[in-house]
Amino acid sequence: MPSAAHCVTVIPGDGVGPEVVRSAIRVIEAAGVFIDWEEAAAGASVFEKGDTSGVPAETRDSIERTKVVLKGPLETPVGFGEKSANVTLRKLFETYANVRPARELPGVPTRYAGEGVNLVIVRENVEDLYAGIEHMVTPDVGQCLKVISRKGSEKVIRYAFELARREGRTKVTAATKANIMKMTEGLFKKVFEELAGEYPEIESEHLIIDNVAHQLAKEPAQFDIIVTTNLNGDIISDLASGLVGGLGFASSGNYGDSVAIFEAVHGSAPKYAGKDLINPTALILSSVMMLRHIGETAAADRIEDAVLVTLEEGHATTQDLVRQTGGDVDTAASTTGFTDAVIANLGRSPATLKARRVGAVDHAPAPPHAWSYGPEHYAAIERRTIGLDIFIETDSDAGRLGPELEGLAATGPFELRFIESRGTKVYPSVGLSSDGVRLLRARFVTRDGGAAAERDLLALQGRVAERQPGWTHIEKLHVFDGADGFTKAQGE
Ligand code: NAD
Repeated sequence: MPSAAHCVTVIPGDGVGPEVVRSAIRVIEAAGVFIDWEEAAAGASVFEKGDTSGVPAETRDSIERTKVVLKGPLETPVGFGEKSANVTLRKLFETYANVRPARELPGVPTRYAGEGVNLVIVRENVEDLYAGIEHMVTPDVGQCLKVISRKGSEKVIRYAFELARREGRTKVTAATKANIMKMTEGLFKKVFEELAGEYPEIESEHLIIDNVAHQLAKEPAQFDIIVTTNLNGDIISDLASGLVGGLGFASSGNYGDSVAIFEAVHGSAPKYAGKDLINPTALILSSVMMLRHIGETAAADRIEDAVLVTLEEGHATTQDLVRQTGGDVDTAASTTGFTDAVIANLGRSPATLKARRVGAVDHAPAPPHAWSYGPEHYAAIERRTIGLDIFIETDSDAGRLGPELEGLAATGPFELRFIESRGTKVYPSVGLSSDGVRLLRARFVTRDGGAAAERDLLALQGRVAERQPGWTHIEKLHVFDGADGFTKAQGE
């Protein structure tokens, strides 16, 4: 018996998870790759035992050891904890690049068949609205912080360009909403434009995310690699799965600097659990990504070829595909039957579509000089705080609140610049109408635009809090290297 060359943590997961995971393991073993699987739990069974993280310590320890995970989908049962165990896993191990290929497959009918769709979406996987920092700031107003950092952006954008280099792809498109969210999506765009210069042989372009959605529906073959922020990527990668046959075929890898997690895009599909009916292609193709990551490139190619042959010949077709082709569902292949067919086809080459010979699609660490975020970097940035935004829950209208706040500012170095309601300036009045939701934001800035002393900021805060006990939170207004670190109000 050959000794195991690789050690991988396997999480069977919930619903159809154990079935698709079993299928992928059978194919990997039939392809001659020996893996020492460390089975670990996460998801529903863990929540139900009272562990609100959904990822127990033994599972974390296993992943720390093996650095590679093959996982089935995980459910977040209602009432056992609020956070998704999937998101927890991705964040715990800082797997910052979520890579989702969408490629036209033989025998899988789509509206775009024959157009040659072959794109990869690289989605930032840790930051953005998925940081999960949400508050009810009044009984009726919720707020979610969108956190985008230069470092987080740089890591995933560099990953996308390095992936293009490794796979011989020629274009990277950044998809953002920088026209609206200038400080967050705008930062991602800026970092993309800076880094693009380091990859002159790769064409780079920036498109607004809504245009990308439109173009994906209209002419998807124009895209090669799309790199984007977390929420944008979540949405357009499901859209991209739909272009090439649906969730039964959509694979993914979550790559970090040390850990990589491979999983199908689909969820636990509970209505199919235990019925031997689910399409295992998505997880088998995710395990192809895993094999490339651990250096088993030849086996990965053999398995990808065998999947393509199986789909191309259409002898073993699972029910999701039979439905799409309008066939008789009773004749559909089972999960086991499809897996048997893939195994039987190992060693054969597809006739209509070649597997991509891309080498090891693993994570290439960014060069050490890629970023410098030490204290000296930040010490070199010229900064000043010029004021405060104070959010106030109030029934008062801005016409009454304005003069009162102006009075409070009069004794210090600040002036009231404006009051706004959900982003629209309402004081001094600009004639715009904004429906009140009992939350206003007052912006105070120094009269001369100079730096405010900390004691003056605190004194202003204290005066406002005393008169307006409904104040909810405060943001400092920074200027970094001469550039405002805050946006204007609509109508300002
Ligand atoms: P789902 O992906 O589980 O299923 C939606 C539908 O898509 C299924 O009913 C089925 O018709 C089809 N489908 C999905 N995978 C298929 C496959 N391999 N073959 C054939 N058909 C397939 O989505 P859902 O119902 O919204 O979510 C169910 C649970 O899964 C939820 O608890 C959700 O939180 C979880 N989930 C987990 C992950 C993950 O672990 N990464 C991802 C998505 C959803």
